[in-house]
Amino acid sequence: MNDQTSQIMSVCILGGGTAGWMTAAALAFKFHDSDVRIQIVESEQIGTVGVGEATLPHIRFFNQALGIDEAEFMRATNATFKLGIEFCDWGQIGDKYIHPFGDFGQPIDGVDFHHVWNKLRRSGLKTPLEEFSYPIIAAQSGRFHHPDPDPAKIESTFGYAYQFDSSHYAKFLRKFAEDRGVTRIEGKVVNTVQNPETGHVETLQLESGETVKGELFIDCSGFRGLLIEQCLKTGYQDWSEWLPCNRAVAVQSATVGDIPPYTRSTAREAGWQWRIPLQHRTGNGFVYCSDYISDDEAREQMLSAVEGELLTTPKQLYFMTGRRNLFWNKNVVSIGLSAGFLEPLESTSIHFIQEGITALLELFPDRSFASSDQDEYNERMSLNFERVRDFLLLHYVATERDDSPMWRHFRALTLPDSLQSKIDVWTHRGLVPSYEFSVFLPPSWIAVFAGQRILPTAEDPRLNRLSAEILQSETETLHRSIQSAVARAPAHVSFIEKIGGLA
Ligand code: FAD
Repeated sequence: MNDQTSQIMSVCILGGGTAGWMTAAALAFKFHDSDVRIQIVESEQIGTVGVGEATLPHIRFFNQALGIDEAEFMRATNATFKLGIEFCDWGQIGDKYIHPFGDFGQPIDGVDFHHVWNKLRRSGLKTPLEEFSYPIIAAQSGRFHHPDPDPAKIESTFGYAYQFDSSHYAKFLRKFAEDRGVTRIEGKVVNTVQNPETGHVETLQLESGETVKGELFIDCSGFRGLLIEQCLKTGYQDWSEWLPCNRAVAVQSATVGDIPPYTRSTAREAGWQWRIPLQHRTGNGFVYCSDYISDDEAREQMLSAVEGELLTTPKQLYFMTGRRNLFWNKNVVSIGLSAGFLEPLESTSIHFIQEGITALLELFPDRSFASSDQDEYNERMSLNFERVRDFLLLHYVATERDDSPMWRHFRALTLPDSLQSKIDVWTHRGLVPSYEFSVFLPPSWIAVFAGQRILPTAEDPRLNRLSAEILQSETETLHRSIQSAVARAPAHVSFIEKIGGLA
């Protein structure tokens, strides 16, 4: 229990990217009527990574918890709505499917709908599973609305995320945090001073000669990991064995045509290309593995697939997939890219920031820095990273592609046991075990399995109590109800206009 003397009174965040300002905003909200001092140090000269535009639905809960108005946030960040991710050419060249933020149909007699689809498919149904997903059909039709609060309606069976300008999001949160008492210090950290006995970080020394003291430090310094790695030498687990893509080149372009409510990921011979539509422009990038393609070739390949006029010069990024050995070490908690990075497939990095902040708020230390708090934090974040690693890897290994060295590498790969067992349970009985600390729930896994042609070899016996005629007729009713509900939904762009966007 915290008492007056053991309470931490001074928190210092290093870094003002998405991670730094999300952390500052959340801490400002938690401590705004207390004497706890929150400072953030950032260097304009160093700048931020400058990418990270696609999110997961959970970010809505982060904004809501801070009391942020959605329409105001969307106008400030030029955001669009995101119903899922379209994957092109992943299972085979020419394939296309959407991973939706929502369910496939609704349960029939208490059994999840994908089991019904699987049973009917095995007896000849040709309609793909995605036609029974409201968010997929809405995304494909370019329509959007908020989910209906009535869980009985098909229009309730989805969530949504945003595609936004992350530099504007950081500015938006900066104002939020500064309005609630956070102090921003401009400057480049050139040295750190540690307590000789405990090894805890005590002081940041800036190039200007200024010093910044703190009791708890949050390292949001990006890939550098200035405190967690350069100072504390925490160590990094290299996961390139499973996720070998290690570079990206990104460029912004003018929007051509409609603004779809989804992100696109197109598999290539040596990686994959993203397209993220915002209100005022489109984000593009090519993530690739340097073993299989040069930077010059990667840039050319990316540019040849960009549709609109280029608005920026291509930016090169380098990374190593993996995570820190410890996310929280001594009095330093790493949040954002300093904690680890699993490549941008499925847009999980901002989500990890949110997970880190949520766990930190729950386990907020006092001056004793109890090891049980740190252990719990580290365990949670490790599980989060491992579950996501498996989900990302599934995209690369659930494939029939063998047209390049990269795809042949994945086809020969020995999978982590945790992923192999999940594939086995799915192929045996169409079930996805649901894990604690996994951001991706069964519908996400089902979307990738079915979209990339990994299908169950048996049926769920719980359906034996229902006749084929009943299953058939319920399925047809569901299909019709999705089609007619989507036809009534507003266009994505008109929905954004309604909340004052696209001006
Ligand atoms: P940064 O943005 O790098 O910020 C680091 C901060 O630390 C800066 O303010 C910098 O000035 C400061 N700093 C560093 N050193 C010093 C110093 N010595 N002194 C003072 N200040 C210092 N995530 C998603 O969720 N969705 C996506 O679609 C997505 N796409 C991505 C694509 C690519 C190619 C990459 C590489 C990442 C992507 N990410 C994505 C990840 C996302 O960009 C990051 O999670 C997010 O931007 C947070 O970054 P950060 O704040 O940790 O680091």
